[in-house]
Amino acid sequence: MLAAQTVTPNYSDIAIIGSGFSGLGMAIRLKQQGLGDFTVFEKADSVGGTWRENHYPGVACDVQSHLYSFSFAPNPQWSRMFSPGPEIRRYLEHCAEHYGITPHLRLRTEVVRARWLDADRQWLLELADGQTHRARVLVSGMGGLSRPALPQIPGLATFQGTTFHSAEWNHDYDLRGKRVAVIGTGASAIQFVPQIAPFVADLQLFQRTPPWVMAKPDRDVSALEHWLFERFPLAQKLMRAAIYGMLEARVPGFTLFPGAMKVAQNLAKRHLRQQIADPQLRAQVTPTYTMGCKRVLISNDYYPALTRPNVHVVTAGIAEIVPQGVRTVDGALHQVDCLILGTGFQATDPMPPGVLFGRKGVDIVAAWKDGPEAYLGTTVAGFPNLFLLMGPNTGLGHSSMVYMIESQIQYVLDALQTMQTQQIQAVDVLAGVQASFNHRLQERLAGTVWQSGGCQSWYRNAAGKNVVLWPGFTWQFRRLTRHFDVQNYQKL
Ligand code: NAP
Repeated sequence: MLAAQTVTPNYSDIAIIGSGFSGLGMAIRLKQQGLGDFTVFEKADSVGGTWRENHYPGVACDVQSHLYSFSFAPNPQWSRMFSPGPEIRRYLEHCAEHYGITPHLRLRTEVVRARWLDADRQWLLELADGQTHRARVLVSGMGGLSRPALPQIPGLATFQGTTFHSAEWNHDYDLRGKRVAVIGTGASAIQFVPQIAPFVADLQLFQRTPPWVMAKPDRDVSALEHWLFERFPLAQKLMRAAIYGMLEARVPGFTLFPGAMKVAQNLAKRHLRQQIADPQLRAQVTPTYTMGCKRVLISNDYYPALTRPNVHVVTAGIAEIVPQGVRTVDGALHQVDCLILGTGFQATDPMPPGVLFGRKGVDIVAAWKDGPEAYLGTTVAGFPNLFLLMGPNTGLGHSSMVYMIESQIQYVLDALQTMQTQQIQAVDVLAGVQASFNHRLQERLAGTVWQSGGCQSWYRNAAGKNVVLWPGFTWQFRRLTRHFDVQNYQKL
């Protein structure tokens, strides 16, 4: 755990919000460039972002750690191919220390509002403790999946037992011997269900839509590999490159030839047959939409957990929550002691209203009335000198977000460099440039499995617009963000 620190100036050239992979990565790269006038605001008492917030049992990354890590900070000692969450958190804490970010951190300091001051051409940050802070440039590393989504189920508040969301896991509540309801079968639930199933008395798993689940090619990283990666960093680089290439090879299936997903579907069905013998249970958990439309999940212990005598998959829709438990539309009452919401995040509404105000005091939520939108997922017209890391349409269904984050960081660094050499105080992306970028982006998304795969997903907002995913190869994004294109910006 990192100690809180630091002098508290009320101005820095650059303010960064959040200290997960985005915020920390930005801070480290600034420091490496000799740009030391920045402050990182973190509402919690330690760094880590997603990996600090999500501490449910079994939390792990579903992207190989050799790729899901900073390119400039390889970790030869990853314990597994897919490392557990706490190990990733420790990695980020190590990075903060190692790269000298600790003195720039303002922990336990929540930014509650940020306003662009037109006259001063600066951002004014209002902090939860009543203080303010000014900065010329604002980098948001708040992440797209940081606001838990609570389901709109009637009666949720009337439940008399214990309720918590997977991202707010209540470790003080002893689940042993309890009757538990889990709502949701997404990436989080399939990780924690196998962990808790062995010791709860009864687990009712409420599944609305079955996920596609593939085998997880996980294993311990051997002592020999650790030695090799320590001694010959190139070996780990090659491993990283091989994983990158393997994951990118999935892109055409998602984007150009959704029909090709049939091959992968057959593999997933074989995985299901191998792990679940009961034809009725198998039928219950077999998806009917094209694989990839929703995030593809990987697990070796999810299906076996469902075969346990104390686990019951409930596919009847939830009608309401009552004080004793969950009532399904078939009239059955499922009495439970605890309700765990594995219901995901508000991905299509990453920002609440009243937080971020741009030129002329416009709230970004108002600017985004048709859904979040940015230029290169990074800058937003009317919000000068604001850079969103993991902004709209930078998400991935197939590879490492850290790669996307590093691409965006490069873009921000080049923007800062350009502003410095050209003596520009502030830049604001041209509305027309942003609009035509998004027009092309949505055109590319039209033919993808995410639009045509026959499912509802958190990639798309209520109007069906995909505001979350990048529509192609990640190297295409990297190419677009390699240099800051100042000609597409108004200079202020
Ligand atoms: P999620 O994938 O959005 O899953 C939410 C689940 O809750 C879905 O099964 C959904 O059903 C269900 N649900 C939501 N509202 C419901 C309602 N009112 N009634 C019944 N069911 C409801 O959320 P998540 O599992 O927390 O994962 C979110 C994302 O976080 C992942 O896709 C991934 O990007 C990230 N994540 C990553 C990892 C990792 O290993 N890298 C691990 C965990 C999470 P429907 O499918 O029918 O909507």
